[in-house]
Amino acid sequence: MPKNLLEVRSLSASYGAIQALLKVSLVVPEGGIVALLGSNGAGKSTTLNAISKLINPSHGEVLFDGQPIHTLRSDDIVRMGLVQVPEGREVFKEMSVQENLELGAFLQHHRREMAADFDKVFTLFPRLKERSDQKASTLSGGEQQMLAIGRALMGRPRLIMFDEPSMGLSPLLVAQIFETILRLNREQGLTILLVEQDVRLALSLASHAYILENGEVSLQGPAKQLMDDPAVRRAYLGV
Ligand code: ATP
Repeated sequence: MPKNLLEVRSLSASYGAIQALLKVSLVVPEGGIVALLGSNGAGKSTTLNAISKLINPSHGEVLFDGQPIHTLRSDDIVRMGLVQVPEGREVFKEMSVQENLELGAFLQHHRREMAADFDKVFTLFPRLKERSDQKASTLSGGEQQMLAIGRALMGRPRLIMFDEPSMGLSPLLVAQIFETILRLNREQGLTILLVEQDVRLALSLASHAYILENGEVSLQGPAKQLMDDPAVRRAYLGV
């Protein structure tokens, strides 16, 4: 059994009077892909933001590689190897592709290592290499998603949390992005927590999944089992 790289224990968070998360617990085993699913407003992004400390949880604990991280700042969490690719990409639009990637590498002090990391990202996404001097604002949606993933990889993460990587992309690009995510997992051993609206796609990739409803985990289990669950099929797969 692989150890749990990420362990979330009873995490709660609210926005003013709105209780967005209530006692959410989940684990992500090292080297695994875990999906976090649920309808609009269920609390998926809030869960990732609370883990990354982009928002402050009101209750609960988060352990990364056995260390408590809920007491840390977001940049220290990134430094430990837990990186989020935010919903809607959020690349720095006025900066070039190269500059965006350099920002992702802000923890890499050795230039030789940074050059190797650039090579890795450009091998994975040759399109970014062709466009390295181009402003991020002029990239297509798919290229921006590649840049957001590339920027996360420059931080040498052990675990990446993806927030709806398929959003706004054509089916062909979605397939490419997901193939890349799968390769990062299989070939580089990267651990993945995946938030995704396309439940069928997410369950086909993940080994385990959690379903959030109104800020609470309503169902969890092996992805295959959830794919066959009549309630899941009715609510999320439209069959
Ligand atoms: P989606 O799939 O639509 O992105 P989600 O599952 O990621 O949804 P969240 O974005 O986590 O859901 O939102 C959970 C709840 O918290 C929603 O009711 C939402 O309206 C509320 N919420 C999210 N962000 C804020 C905010 N900054 N201020 C106030 N309420 C918020």
